[in-house]
Amino acid sequence: MKILSNCHTHTQFCDAHSTMEDMVLSALEHSFISLGFSPHCRLCFGGLASMSVPGEQEYLREFRRLKACYGDRIKLYCGVEKDMYSASDCSGFEYVIGTLHVLPSAAGLSQVEGKVPLVERLVQEEFGGSADALAHAYLRGLGAMALAVRPQIVGHFDVFLKRLRVKVDTESAAYRKTVTETLEIIRSAGSMLEVNTGGMVRAGQPYPYPEPWTLKRWREMGGQVIVGSDCHQADQIAAYFDEAVDYMQAAGFSAYYRLSGGEGALFEEVPLR
Ligand SMILES: [Zn+2]
Ligand SMILES: [Zn+2]
Repeated sequence: MKILSNCHTHTQFCDAHSTMEDMVLSALEHSFISLGFSPHCRLCFGGLASMSVPGEQEYLREFRRLKACYGDRIKLYCGVEKDMYSASDCSGFEYVIGTLHVLPSAAGLSQVEGKVPLVERLVQEEFGGSADALAHAYLRGLGAMALAVRPQIVGHFDVFLKRLRVKVDTESAAYRKTVTETLEIIRSAGSMLEVNTGGMVRAGQPYPYPEPWTLKRWREMGGQVIVGSDCHQADQIAAYFDEAVDYMQAAGFSAYYRLSGGEGALFEEVPLR
């Protein structure tokens, strides 16, 4: 069973190494039925390459051009990845992946998935050396994002594990309680959870975000999932998608959602077998 769609695709107008057209060509090579672009929208902090104000317009123009060129072969969608601290209203895009990349710090806002020494400094200076405390603050922040933005998709749920996997005790009762409370908020916001393989291809992560217990908990709550490769490079558009299928099945899912290949609803449910 192949996923045949990607909802989380970056562009030359944010921080991807490939153009949108190369992403479409790669998607066609993989026989995708649909592809959604999700460039980082404007941020109110530096550090992540996001779209500029003119960049947003260029993105929309290029999207319309590609849709005219390839729209008869693949369904294209014009989405956006919106951080909690984004400055954009995002109403002109077809869907939103809501995410959180930073936490407040003495320096303003600091990335939780940046270079290792910077993340370690954030843990030391803002969380008294406790990675568990950072995880707790991040999850609280992600829940607040979901309520404020109400995105169709919540992306890379526990991306802080990219740098802190061995330091956060994801098996503790306290961690799991915070995860459950955050998932309940995401569910009340009406969002799907992304099974994100980006950390596997770019940062050697052992499995997609979110980690296994969290994904099982989400399934027990009746939550819905969608798969994203968080693609920054065209040849990685479907990276680890076969593993994502196994991963969702192992968590007990019998179906997932993807951007629709036809007219009508934005997303369609697809059985996993
Ligand atoms: Zn992101
Ligand atoms: Zn992304």
